[in-house]
Parts: sequence; C-alpha cells; structure tokens
Amino acid sequence: MPLRPERLSKYRNLTRSTEIEAINLNPIQSGGRAGNYPEVVKSVLNFIDGYSTCDYCIKGRLEEIETPPLCDFHADLAEFIEMDEVRLLPGCRQAQFAAFHSLASPGDYVVIDSLAHYSTYLAAERAGLKIIEVPNSGFPYFEVSPELYAEKIEEAKRVTKKTPALVFLTHVDYSYGNLADAEAIAKVSHEYDVPFMLNCAYTIGRMPVSGRKLKADVVVASLHKSFASPAPSGILAANGEYAEKIFRKSTVKGEWSGRTFPNKEVELLGCTLPGCVVVGVMAAFPYVAERVERWSEEVEKARYFSSQLTKIEGVIQLGQTPHNHDLLHFESSSFFEVARAHPRKGFFLYDELKARGVVGVQPGLSRSWKLSTYGQSWENVKKAAQAFLEIAEKYNIPVS
Ligand SMILES: *Cc1c(COP(=O)(O)O)cnc(C)c1O
Repeated sequence: MPLRPERLSKYRNLTRSTEIEAINLNPIQSGGRAGNYPEVVKSVLNFIDGYSTCDYCIKGRLEEIETPPLCDFHADLAEFIEMDEVRLLPGCRQAQFAAFHSLASPGDYVVIDSLAHYSTYLAAERAGLKIIEVPNSGFPYFEVSPELYAEKIEEAKRVTKKTPALVFLTHVDYSYGNLADAEAIAKVSHEYDVPFMLNCAYTIGRMPVSGRKLKADVVVASLHKSFASPAPSGILAANGEYAEKIFRKSTVKGEWSGRTFPNKEVELLGCTLPGCVVVGVMAAFPYVAERVERWSEEVEKARYFSSQLTKIEGVIQLGQTPHNHDLLHFESSSFFEVARAHPRKGFFLYDELKARGVVGVQPGLSRSWKLSTYGQSWENVKKAAQAFLEIAEKYNIPVS
C-alpha cells in the first residue's frame, strides 16, 4: 500500500535535544551518552550505510575484520576487562540469553540475585530455565550476601539432586545501585563447582572491571548503558571451557545442498553488529578506557549529591550508604506529601525540576525516584542538587 507523503512527513528530520537543553540525570542514559564525543559521532556517520563494516570481511566473522580494526578491538576489549574471549551483541539481554542458552539445558536451575534486572528473568525464561532467587536484606540497604547464595545453591541441590547450571550475580543493580561483592559470591559458586556469571551492565565502561580479579567465568554488559555507545550494543565474554561452549561453531549441513558454515558461531547466528553501531563502540573505547580511571571522582559526586538531598526532611537514600555507584535511589515522604495536595499530583516534581533545567527523574514519581550523577561536571551536580533543595523550600519542607 503506497502511503501518502503527509503520512510520512513526521518521520523526516527527527531531532532530540534532551542532552543539550537540560542536565539529564536519567540513570539508563548517563553512561551511554556518546554525542559529547565528536569523534564518536563522526565515526558513526562515516559508517552509517547498512553493512558498512563488511567491505573487507574476508573470513566471515565480525571479530576477524581488520579494516576497520574490529579484530584488534575484540582483543583489546578482552584485555581491558580481563576475559579470554569477547563478542559483541545487540545488548546485555541478548548476551544473557546466549550464555543461559549455551551453558544450561531446559529445566535446569540458575541461582540469581533478587536485584537482577527483568531481562535476566526473561532470558532465563526464554532459555527454558528455572530460577532460584537469592533474597536481599530489604529496606533500607537491599544487599545480597554470599552466605545466602550458598543456602540457595544447597536448596537447588535438594530440589534437583544436582548443582544448579549457573550462579548469576548483578554486579551493580539497576534499582539501588548497590555494588555486590562479586569475588565472594564467585568463591561460593566455585566451591560448588558451578560456573559464575556476572552482569556488568552498570559497571563495565564506568568503573574498572576485571573478570579475572572477580573470578567470573562469564561476563555480560551493556554498551549503550555504560560505554558511551550507540544502541543496540552489549558484551558477551567468557573464559576457557565456557567460551568454547558459548562460542561453538556451526555443524549444520544442508541435507540437500550439503552446505556447511563451519566458521560461524551458532549462538551469535553468525554475525551480530555489522555497521555503524559497532563503529561507535570502537570510537568510544579510547574515551571509555580513560574515563574508568576517574571512577572514584564519579563516586564522590554521587556521595556529595546524596549528602545534599538527604538534608531535606523526609528524604532518605536507599541502598549502600555511603554509596559506591552513581545510581542513586531516594525515598521521600515529604515530596510525596506535597504531591498528594498538588493539582499535578506526582508530576509536580518533574515540572519543578524541568523548570530548573534538570530532567531524568521519571515523570509522575515523587515518593521514590532514581537518578544518576554520572558524567556530570561538578557544577552541574551542584546545580541539580540545588534544584531539589529549592523545590523543598518552595513547598515549605524543612532543609537542615
Ligand atoms: C539495563 C540493564 C540490562 C539490559 O541491558 P540491555 O543492554 O538494554 O539489554 C540488563 N541488566 C542490567 C543489570 C541492567 O541494568
């Protein structure tokens, strides 16, 4: 059906100015900003045409292309996160699914932290796996302990008469920004001889992460969340025997034609990111490699921000205190009180922040909300904190 031109006009000249017009504190966007690196933008535009990375794909595999330097990039990225083998996927969720699908069989159990992202649950579901959750400590710290991991592995053994297929941990969770003790949980996992998988969606690209130090057998990450990269992009990395299983080669044979594809990796369906997205990831790498070294300052900014907001009566910060990550979750009985009486209800907070040049707090939320100070200048961090203090004062909430 041919569509009339008027119908199509809204798709022309799409624009977005969020990052230019306001201080954006949205946690899912703060680590993925690529637009402030002009070389990333330029590189992406140079490769904007479809399968642009395939000009010199001689061996039929993305990570073996030499021009642009994808081969070196995969090796350098593996070294950067200290894992044997790295592949790029469209996102952390696809990486989680690929690992679950390769390392476990339908009906198997996987032990996961109860702060895991929804995509972990769905990846397990799609792979036909059963999950056992490791409880967290609940309000107000929501921490996950290695001891409970051991208990839950025992529980899986009791139920199934064998060890779980995988132990899974979210390195920093999306809800409270808690940094889990990966090394201790890896140790528990290995005591039971179970492979340990670490989800670094909120850590790789923000802070230094070493798969070797954290004793991870499999690492997944989200590049559009934490690696200053365009979407969709993610990492799947594995060591030794697990890399062999996950990145196994195709053995299929066309029963009529006899065609085979022995060079292609099944779990990746042969190829993953053939174009401008992977180029954006590569172009971001030099910046990212440098910025992770400044992680302690990002933590300082978050702690400062938290110290300011908790001056407001009725505002508390959830999760680890002092905090070890830029993702902050606040709860506020006082802002919630204001919302109840306000004609705009919970949206008043969004409106008031927006009026002060701050966005990224989910519209409608006032009782509890998340934000991230990642990548903001100290000036912006102070301005954003000040905005909250001003709003409190405007609505007669005491500030100490
Ligand atoms: C955001 C997030 C994901 C999903 O990442 P995608 O790259 O969008 O698939 C998975 N896990 C955690 C912990 C996350 O925070």
